[in-house]
Amino acid sequence: MIRPSCRSLAYALVLTVCATPARVRAQEQIDFAALRDETVRAMSEYLQINTTNPPGNELATAKWLQTFLKKEGIDGQVLDTAELGAGRANFYARLRGDGSKKAIALVHHMDVVPSNPELWSVPPFSGTVKDGYVWGRGALDMKSEGIIHLMSMVALKRAGVHLTRDIVFIANADEEVEGTGAVVFTKNHADLLKDVEFMITEGEGTNVEDGVVKWFAIGVAEKRAYWLRLVAHGTTAHGSIPRADNPVPRLARAVARAAAWQTPVHLLPAVDRFFKAEATLEQGQHRFWLANVKAALATPRGRAYILGDPYRNAILRNTIAPTVLTGSNRTNIIPPVASAELDIRLMPDEDTTLFKRELARVIGDTSVYIEVMPGVMPSYSADINTSLVRAVEAQIHEMLPGVPVTTPLAAGATDRPTYSHAGIQAYGLEPYINENREEEKGVHGIDERLSIANIEFGLKLITGMLRRMQ
Ligand SMILES: [Zn+2]
Repeated sequence: MIRPSCRSLAYALVLTVCATPARVRAQEQIDFAALRDETVRAMSEYLQINTTNPPGNELATAKWLQTFLKKEGIDGQVLDTAELGAGRANFYARLRGDGSKKAIALVHHMDVVPSNPELWSVPPFSGTVKDGYVWGRGALDMKSEGIIHLMSMVALKRAGVHLTRDIVFIANADEEVEGTGAVVFTKNHADLLKDVEFMITEGEGTNVEDGVVKWFAIGVAEKRAYWLRLVAHGTTAHGSIPRADNPVPRLARAVARAAAWQTPVHLLPAVDRFFKAEATLEQGQHRFWLANVKAALATPRGRAYILGDPYRNAILRNTIAPTVLTGSNRTNIIPPVASAELDIRLMPDEDTTLFKRELARVIGDTSVYIEVMPGVMPSYSADINTSLVRAVEAQIHEMLPGVPVTTPLAAGATDRPTYSHAGIQAYGLEPYINENREEEKGVHGIDERLSIANIEFGLKLITGMLRRMQ
C-alpha cells in the first residue's frame, strides 16, 4: 500500500541533526545527552514496578512518581485511592507558569497488560537496559511516555524556562481494563482540570518502514464503540417438526442485512488531511485519488480503490462487524431465543439514536429487538487547527525535515474521550518513531522495548513542543 518516498529520511540519521531553536536563551539550554541518560535510569526503575492489570497496583507507581518529583521541588498528589480500591491510585502534579495562558496536561496510564515471562528474552519487569534499548512491559504502552512527560517537565523547571502555561502531569490507573482511573479523576477533580486547555496522551503511531519515516501522526479523533445485540424470540420445539416462528432464521436474516448495509461515507477534515499525507507516498492515479478523496469517491474506480482497503474504509464510515452468535447448543432443538452481538464503530460525530433507528430500518423486522450493550463511550474529536497542533508540526518539521505531520482517526480506544468530555482538547502524541513491525510485536505482545535514541527523540519533541506553546 505504501512505498518509500525520497522526501522522507532515515530516522537514525535524523535523530542526530535536531537543531536547537535560536531564540532559546543560554541559561535555558538543556543538556539532552545527560537528560537522556537520566531518563533511561528513571524509566528502568518505573518499568520494574509490576502494574499488570488486573489487579493494577498503581498505588506503587503513584508513590514512586511522588517521591521522584519531591526531589525536584514539585509536590504531587496521590489521589482517588478510596474510589479505585486496594492498591490503586491516580497521580497529579503541576508545574506553575505565570498563568497568562491556559494549562496543558501530559497524561499517561500507569497500568500494563499481562505478560508471559516464558516468551520474553528478558524478565518483563526487570527494566533491563541492553543493546541500546530499555526493555519491559510498558516500554511502549505507555509507562515510557509517562517518564518522557515527567523528565520533560523536570528539565524545563531545572533550565528555568519561563512558562506562560502551567504544565499538569497526570498518571491514571486502569486504562487497559475499564478506564475507571480517568473517569474517576475527571469526575472528582474538575477543580484541578478547570484551566486545562489541551492534553496529550497515547494515540496513533507513526508510520515507519525499514528506517524510513513515512509520516508522523498526531491523533485528533477516534471511532466510538457502540455495541449492539440483536435478539429474536420464538417457541422452543423439536427440530424434527419445525415451526414457522423458529428465531434462528429470523436472526440470521437480520444479521445478514446489518452486515451488508453500505453505511454512508463521510469524509472528516482530519481524515482528508491523513489521506493527503498518504498521497505523497504514492504515484500516478493512486496519488491523485488520495489527494482528492472526495472526487475519487464520486467515481466507481476511485471509490473501489479507497474503500477496498479495510483501514481506509473504517475511517470513512460507521462499520458493523457481527461477532458473537448464540442459539441452540443441540442440533435437534429449536431454541426459544437466538441472539447476535454486533461490534459497531461509529464515526466521532455520529448520533447513536439516529444510527440505531436507521439500523432497525435496514433490518426491516420489528420482531428482532436491538439492545444497547454496556460501555458506550462519549464521542470524541479534537480541533485540527490549534496552537498545540501547530507546535507539534513546527517541532517535527525541525526534527524530521520533509516528513508530513498527519491526523489519523483511531479505530481503537484510549482515555481521550473521557478528558474530551471534561472540556479539554485531547490529542494522541506518541513521542517516538518506531518501526511498524516492532510496534506490532511489542504493544501487548512480547519483548516490549524502546530504543535509547527514541528516548532522546521524545525528550526533544516534548520539551520543544512545550517551549513553542509558551
Ligand atoms: Zn495504552
